[in-house]
Amino acid sequence: VDTDILLSVESLRATYNHTITALTDVSFSVKHGEIVALLGANGAGKTTTLKALSNLLPAERGQIVAGRIHFGAIDVTTASPAALVRAGLVQVLEGRHCFRTLTVEENLISGGLGRSATRSEITADLEKIYALFPRLKEKRRVTSGLTSGGEQQMTAIGRALMSRPRLLVLDEPSMGLAPLVVQDIFRTLRRLNEEERLSILVAEQNSAIALKYADRATILENGVTAINGAAADLRQRSEVQDLYLGRK
Ligand code: ATP
Repeated sequence: VDTDILLSVESLRATYNHTITALTDVSFSVKHGEIVALLGANGAGKTTTLKALSNLLPAERGQIVAGRIHFGAIDVTTASPAALVRAGLVQVLEGRHCFRTLTVEENLISGGLGRSATRSEITADLEKIYALFPRLKEKRRVTSGLTSGGEQQMTAIGRALMSRPRLLVLDEPSMGLAPLVVQDIFRTLRRLNEEERLSILVAEQNSAIALKYADRATILENGVTAINGAAADLRQRSEVQDLYLGRK
């Protein structure tokens, strides 16, 4: 057993409604303190893989048919989504889910409700998040539905941080955001990784930005792991450049 490994996914196979095979053979791992990117085109299986990590596929009438997923010592396939959050596996779902009618600060506080934190612990965590995302401090009394897409993504990340993750999982944080905002979000993720040693798994269609900030990457093609490698190596490889970085 490699004790450096926080999350391991081995030979994962998953179907929807017993008919559509979304994942045929997916394997990768995240070590403590790493940023790992999960890359692939639209429909390659990134979202299905992330759902499997929190055992959320049954709710989607999808199913893990074969394979193993471990988060630390926990067998994910038999754990409840809530138990996995309490154990530190926390996801920021695709489409930056915020409560649109709550203020930014209320959204952040809602992320801390699952753990028994005191008022002063909550205040201290809020201050940390405001230090990471100064924009959220400026907007803290504003209704989330009235903030920009980038601010909503930051709020969704901040809310996840309020539950004190050991592994933060993000689904396409760049989606629909301007390049500078995307850059800002990835820089902040890198800072969290360096300063708090937070482990991060990020699914992205934007391979260029993800490979710039990740330590390692997994590329999915039609539900199969096509490549596992160091991000720096993948940036250099010509087939990766042609297929995923839009360079010829
Ligand atoms: P995206 O970038 O759109 O999120 P993805 O790489 O995350 O793409 P998935 O959403 O995991 O890909 O989809 C993998 C495959 O499973 C696709 O063929 C998709 O059509 C199928 N699929 C996804 N969700 C469902 C569902 N709820 N029911 C049936 N099939 C689904």
